[in-house]
Amino acid sequence: MNAVAPGAYHIWTIGCQMNEADTRRLAARLEALGWREAADPDSADLLVLNTCVVRRQAEDKALGRLAQARAQKRRRPDRIVALMGCLVGERMDPALRERFDFVDVFLPPSDPGPLLRRLAAADAAEAPGEAPLPARLRRSVRAHVPAVLGCSLACAYCVIPYRRGPERSRPAGEILDEIRALLAQGVREIVLLGQIVDRYGLDRPDAGVNLAGLLRSAARLDGLRRLRFLTNHPRYLDAALIETVADEPRICPHFVMPFQSGSDAVLARMRRGYTAEDYRARVAAIRARLPEASIQTDIIVGFPGETEADFAATANLLEELRLDKVHIARYSPRPQTWAARRLPDDVPAEEKERRRAALDAIQTRILSEKNAAFRGRVVDVLVEDRDPRRGRWRGRTPCDRLVFFEAPGNPRGRIVPVRIRETAPFSLIGAAESANPTPP
Ligand code: SAH
Repeated sequence: MNAVAPGAYHIWTIGCQMNEADTRRLAARLEALGWREAADPDSADLLVLNTCVVRRQAEDKALGRLAQARAQKRRRPDRIVALMGCLVGERMDPALRERFDFVDVFLPPSDPGPLLRRLAAADAAEAPGEAPLPARLRRSVRAHVPAVLGCSLACAYCVIPYRRGPERSRPAGEILDEIRALLAQGVREIVLLGQIVDRYGLDRPDAGVNLAGLLRSAARLDGLRRLRFLTNHPRYLDAALIETVADEPRICPHFVMPFQSGSDAVLARMRRGYTAEDYRARVAAIRARLPEASIQTDIIVGFPGETEADFAATANLLEELRLDKVHIARYSPRPQTWAARRLPDDVPAEEKERRRAALDAIQTRILSEKNAAFRGRVVDVLVEDRDPRRGRWRGRTPCDRLVFFEAPGNPRGRIVPVRIRETAPFSLIGAAESANPTPP
């Protein structure tokens, strides 16, 4: 097929950090082929919709955006429309071609190949990205880098294994090359991604590398200031990983370890492979070695058969553990999953919302108490950008607390000591301690 003359592109993205990373990587490849980001999304010659289906709500938003794209395509038939991500999936349902007959190219998650081949001569499309940040992200301090693609665990509620395919660890050399290229473009913090990032390397026993080894190699790269990783699974996050985090100053003491439910009966039906007691033990192991570590979690409310007593167990665990951030989702059945096929969605929508709001209230109170302890303290903030509304600088602590602060000059990309003056449940506010932030 002939190459398409480059023009203006727009990528619409919804969903997890993996989708954001997929969008970044695709945008960089498009720009390497001469495309530029459209100033006005409606005028783009190429529209890419990068979709998520992990919850019903996300899928509905993607379907809404697709309906809009269909109408626009009628007015502008020459526009190229590409559908990407989890709505397409690794093994695409052929019925999608009929359902979305106005879509020109379908891309599985994390694979820009079909679009790049359509736009350019095949070999140009395969060229590795020397500049992995597209123009819009050139001043980014943080970038997400996929380490493990797909997932082979079959949690009863989760559609990801069906859409992102089986677990595949990327070769360490490839990941480190991508990180080096990002650092060369000014990135200072890297977040390694995987559905169960702790399982990095287990599918490549011959390569002899695990997450701890990958983190140690990445932590030593020139220019890097901070390294994070997510998502952890309570069954696979082990003592060696905790030791590595404790040993390497650039690896942040920050864990994202979903517990999903505090009820053992629900956890068993979810097929998560651990009990509430196992989860408590993991939290205790992290805190024994890293007392200040930030531990974030995900919870699903209203999973099939979740009784008031099951929910109370979840609320009690949340209350007891005093974690540092929580994503609370109301259960929605997802196609192909074991729960959708076998378990009736029997908790009414209003009850799911009541449970979500109750957990939200508990966690907001915990965070306002935990954050209040920071008043008067000095924290190290890696500066990301300036809050355009209030003109203050914005960044994060190693434990992922969001900080707004005043500082002279332009401290972007540096680690600045900030004395905290005010606190709120979701942020800290203060001022830079010294006029001389650490040199880059
Ligand atoms: N691999 C990670 C995250 C997967 S998706 C893990 O091991 O948990 C991110 C979050 O979405 C999950 O942690 C879960 O809380 C939520 N989620 C996944 N499927 C869901 C569903 N069917 N309904 C509601 N929330 C869901």
